[in-house]
Amino acid sequence: MSITENLKHIKNTLPAHVTLVAVSKTKPNEDIVEAYEAGQRIFGENKIQEMTDKYEALPKDIEWHMIGHVQRNKVKYMAPYVSLIHGVDSFRLLEEIDKQAKRNNRVISCLLQMFIAEEETKFGLDQTELMEILASEEFKALKNIKVVGLMGMATFTDNQLQVKKEFTQLNDIFAMCKKQFGIHDNLDLNTVSMGMSNDYSLAIECGSTMVRIGSNIFGNRNY
Ligand SMILES: *Cc1c(COP(=O)(O)O)cnc(C)c1O
Repeated sequence: MSITENLKHIKNTLPAHVTLVAVSKTKPNEDIVEAYEAGQRIFGENKIQEMTDKYEALPKDIEWHMIGHVQRNKVKYMAPYVSLIHGVDSFRLLEEIDKQAKRNNRVISCLLQMFIAEEETKFGLDQTELMEILASEEFKALKNIKVVGLMGMATFTDNQLQVKKEFTQLNDIFAMCKKQFGIHDNLDLNTVSMGMSNDYSLAIECGSTMVRIGSNIFGNRNY
């Protein structure tokens, strides 16, 4: 099936409250243009350089989401244009994003990445670290970022019960933080980013409001 057909099919299965991030990492600009012409405006990339090259070449009404691990010294390259950073996993990174956002005279939306998987290879905060950040005065002082939700990646496994447990855990933490911290200047928890090609239906059942789908739209990636 074509990218256009894949997109149409996926969009038809998504509830209205779920946002689709089309993960275009490693894919050429013409694939993105095809998805764009089919109406898709939100694209996810995991490398800042690649995302910046694509940003420069492609229509300016595309919203670029950084879904990969972010190195602090590279934040400056995406700060002028990035729409949402999914993988924020430390207070120091949040501070750097705030600093670069300020230089660009804007507020950058961020998701805090939670460690929910059993694999050591995945990044993210645990619940205690998350609560510490959200409760701190240092966090409240950051005026050029806005934390709009949480992001997580489940363990790469066929065990659906395991994946369900991890997604549910993320959604529970989200609900708890929303209740405990409410809405401030720089905190407005409204997004749970979880679910990829293999597990997005389950993620939506467990409360996801934003799915990040690559291969089901663009086909398998050749690295
Ligand atoms: C690559 C990637 C995706 C998309 O994965 P698919 O299995 O191709 O849908 C989603 N989220 C993150 C963080 C990724 O790096």
